[in-house]
Amino acid sequence: MQIPGHIDPVVTSRAITPRADGRIDLMGLSHLQIRQLFLESQLDEKAAKLRSKQVFHWIYHRGVTDFEAMTDIAKTMRPWLAQRFVIGRPQVVEAQVSSDGTRKWLLRTDDNQDYEMVFIPDADRGTLCVSSQVGCTLNCRFCHTGTMRLVRNLTPGEIVGQVMLARDALGEWPKGNMAGGTEDEDDESGHYTADGRMLTNIVMMGMGEPLYNFDNVRDALKVVMHGDGLALSKRRITLSTSGVVPMMAKAGEEIGVNLAVSLHAVSKEIRDEIVPLNRKYGIEELLQACADYPGANNARRITFEYVMLKDKNDSDEDARELVRLIKQYKLPAKVNLIPFNPWPGAPYDCSSPERIRAFSNIIFEHGISAPVRTPRGRDIMAACGQLKSAAEKKSRAELDRLAEEKQAALG
Ligand code: SAH
Ligand code: SF4
Repeated sequence: MQIPGHIDPVVTSRAITPRADGRIDLMGLSHLQIRQLFLESQLDEKAAKLRSKQVFHWIYHRGVTDFEAMTDIAKTMRPWLAQRFVIGRPQVVEAQVSSDGTRKWLLRTDDNQDYEMVFIPDADRGTLCVSSQVGCTLNCRFCHTGTMRLVRNLTPGEIVGQVMLARDALGEWPKGNMAGGTEDEDDESGHYTADGRMLTNIVMMGMGEPLYNFDNVRDALKVVMHGDGLALSKRRITLSTSGVVPMMAKAGEEIGVNLAVSLHAVSKEIRDEIVPLNRKYGIEELLQACADYPGANNARRITFEYVMLKDKNDSDEDARELVRLIKQYKLPAKVNLIPFNPWPGAPYDCSSPERIRAFSNIIFEHGISAPVRTPRGRDIMAACGQLKSAAEKKSRAELDRLAEEKQAALG
């Protein structure tokens, strides 16, 4: 679906196109799409149904990339598949590890565009921060990604591919025999194991505005959530938006994951400056869309992200106004305070730790949770808002000019 306005990303084709060698990459495709492709390749209905189910399971549940490993598919059938299809992964250009254990991968699309994904390990969970676009059209003033010139929507395959690659890198595919299965491969114990996974949560908080690439993000997350494949629960997936109001209800209905909203300011003046999309969809409209978000309740709260910018949005009055707004709209909400992560040429400073603490306390005093996020992976530029492929460098003057253009286009 296309969203009206000047700042939408270029619309990219959603057709399944073969690669240069004529084969089709199955990565990111749903069970039904795979079945359709098998039908088009002259399998009969019954065979297409059975084979697509098996292949889907091997791809997304077992993580295999080679049809030869699909041991419950007849030996003669495997070359047939390999002649027509591949199971791809994003190309890894660079992999880095932070001193705090955070990992960042620089990835490349087939048309040579770079994007990034980040894995953040914690004691009780492991969160993969997934990109939805190469770059971002929205130019929030504090965000490095917003300064990238090139923007292109990532395909479902490129989005799901990030999760697959993370599972590969973490060595997390189940091993051994499945009860009742006919697989002949085995691990040492012979037992099927899928426990103790590091990757437990996904946040759509990498590069890009996910609701500006709605169809692909929805299709990708449906594959990620499918019970026969990666089987991640919607409760463990969070989609973050800078406030694309017309798409929020649709996201709740068609994807149903947790919602995070990049609020960052409580007055029109400041939000217009730091999140330019506010000129199009103002704070009241945005909060009403949050109040209407399907599935939000006290057990599944909406997260408001709030970046702490020194002398910009961090006063006691701002904190009190934030509380007032949350109460006015009766929002089941929690607030994530994100210390501003610096990047070269950024026009803001981070608020002091004392200021952030005072801001957090005011919100807590009114019964709303407002933890301060510990920045992760800053040393490898993997923290919130620091993602940007190194190939893209611009001067401060150029950045200011771009920001002015964006403001003018928003009217
Ligand atoms: N485009 C989406 C999701 C990606 S950004 C969105 O804006 O919501 C993930 C979070 O990091 C957002 O809340 C974003 O506002 C925040 N962020 C961006 N730049 C940042 C920076 N330099 N320091 C701290 N947080 C930042
Ligand atoms: Fe885009 Fe989000 Fe960065 Fe804003 S904060 S420029 S919407 S990625």
